[in-house]
Amino acid sequence: MQTTLSLKLSPAEADDDTVIRKYIAGALGKNEAAISGFYKLKQSIDARSSKQVWMNLQLHVFIDEPFQKREWVPVYFKDVSLARSKVIVVGAGPAGLFAALKLIEKGIQPIILERGKDVRARRRDLAALNKEGIVNPESNYCFGEGGAGTYSDGKLYTRSSKRGDINRILSILCQFGAEENILFESHPHIGTNKLPLIITAIREKIIECGGKFLFEKKLTNFILKDNRFVSAITADGDSIPADAAIIATGHSARDIFFLFKEKQLDISAKPFALGVRIEHPQSLIDTIQYHCAIRDKHLPPASYGLVEQVNDRGIFSFCMCPGGIIAPAATHPGELVVNGWSPSKRNNPYANSGMVVEVALADALSYFSKKGKNTQTTNVHENDPLALLYFQQSIEQACYIAGGGLLRAPAQRMVDFCEQKSSNDLPDCSYLPGIEASDLQTVLPGFIHQCLQKGLIAFGKKMKGYYTNEAVVVATESRTSSPVRIPRDPISLAHSQVSNLYPCGEGAGYAGGIISAAMDGERVAQMIAENICKI
Ligand SMILES: Cc1cc2nc3c(=O)[nH]c(=O)nc-3n(C[C@H](O)[C@H](O)[C@H](O)COP(=O)(O)OP(=O)(O)OC[C@H]3O[C@@H](n4cnc5c(N)ncnc54)[C@H](O)[C@@H]3O)c2cc1C
Repeated sequence: MQTTLSLKLSPAEADDDTVIRKYIAGALGKNEAAISGFYKLKQSIDARSSKQVWMNLQLHVFIDEPFQKREWVPVYFKDVSLARSKVIVVGAGPAGLFAALKLIEKGIQPIILERGKDVRARRRDLAALNKEGIVNPESNYCFGEGGAGTYSDGKLYTRSSKRGDINRILSILCQFGAEENILFESHPHIGTNKLPLIITAIREKIIECGGKFLFEKKLTNFILKDNRFVSAITADGDSIPADAAIIATGHSARDIFFLFKEKQLDISAKPFALGVRIEHPQSLIDTIQYHCAIRDKHLPPASYGLVEQVNDRGIFSFCMCPGGIIAPAATHPGELVVNGWSPSKRNNPYANSGMVVEVALADALSYFSKKGKNTQTTNVHENDPLALLYFQQSIEQACYIAGGGLLRAPAQRMVDFCEQKSSNDLPDCSYLPGIEASDLQTVLPGFIHQCLQKGLIAFGKKMKGYYTNEAVVVATESRTSSPVRIPRDPISLAHSQVSNLYPCGEGAGYAGGIISAAMDGERVAQMIAENICKI
């Protein structure tokens, strides 16, 4: 017999299969010997009670019958080396990679064009970013094999459950080497150290099946004929024809947005969020969240999620990285962008999180009108689809200057930031290029600074101890999602004006995060397969 069962156990109990088995037997009124095995369907932490942290387990149990391990059916990928249909996939981030895999599954040959380098070569450019403050505009935390998802935190949860099959994406990640606990944990996480191996395994499978993977191959133009895509033009002058193209270039490929505008193809300004990254000692966040002096060794480093409405605007924590590192995520020299990642063990002494404020088109217009006429961007107007991109860029540039160059980031202690006092010194911080005490009011637009001030004070009331000068506020977290949308037809998923050109993933405005980008890649590739069959 098989059954499912929910248990609420202490963290130590939930970590010990022998103890779990005892509880199962007790709950089912059986002998322990009758429990032939079990696996976890779900596991989540319940830290709401100030007295005890609980682990909620949902289990699949085998009683008096042979135990079978949790099964996920591996996807079968076809040999597409001689396939008649070829599709160009621009960008090897999660959207592009999962689109390529889906195309292979459907018998179509993907030709992946990636501006950056493979995961291994990319490491050298990340080292230069962190140690010397040098940004390679083709290879950085956002560009290169695996996209922004490779040297990311690898958190694998999403609220976009309606956009596709999350479990399918998680199973495919397991097929390429991810640990199976991502299948049952409520907040699955892979970690920066493990993601490159998975990305490499995906690439090897794509090549083994006859797909093409071209590195340092930047799309700079494409040829259209009769409103159809004909071929991709790359920076080195190649022209690569295909039956269709997927544009999965991510939120940081500004040149792609410029290209669409130049070619008079529809794009529009898309609201996004901008703010800062905040870092606390991890031990402080553990104490607050788990109500203890020292974290139980059976519990992971604690995380948090905070949201508040301030002045009719949403302010929220974003991409929280327990035991993590603040990373320099700029893609262009002279700009400063911070983001966060953590290793699989989440064993750094810091907890960082983005803390961002919603930004709409009207905010960008009012920001530029206040900035005055002597700026490069005086021509930004309400019909400019790039208005929010210019806003994002302008703040990144201001932060670069305020930090004093070489990617040193302007920073302030949290209470000083809210009380508008300068910080005489700064706490230790994980951000490797270094932080510089600055008045962040001078670099962040007034509405963002004010919302953050009020929001942080409010968060301090929700999470006692959060509002503290032990925390440091680092600017700017600006690449939260795309400031531009590349619109597509809701039925065919192709660009509204080009019937075989498919905007995809986060850059096009249809995803936010690894899982939703991967799901969008699959969705678009599935649609291409259906459309190609009709031809
Ligand atoms: C440091 C960091 C940490 C993050 N942590 C998490 C996390 O824990 N969980 C999570 O869900 N999300 C996280 N994210 C966000 C996540 O990585 C993105 O949402 C996701 O990668 C978007 O996928 P995508 O495929 O749409 O685009 P991207 O991953 O941005 O990929 C786009 C790809 O296109 C390539 N490209 C761009 N222009 C061209 C061109 N002209 N020609 C050829 N190739 C081009 C780029 O090099 C890149 O490889 C993090 C991001 C960063 C930077």
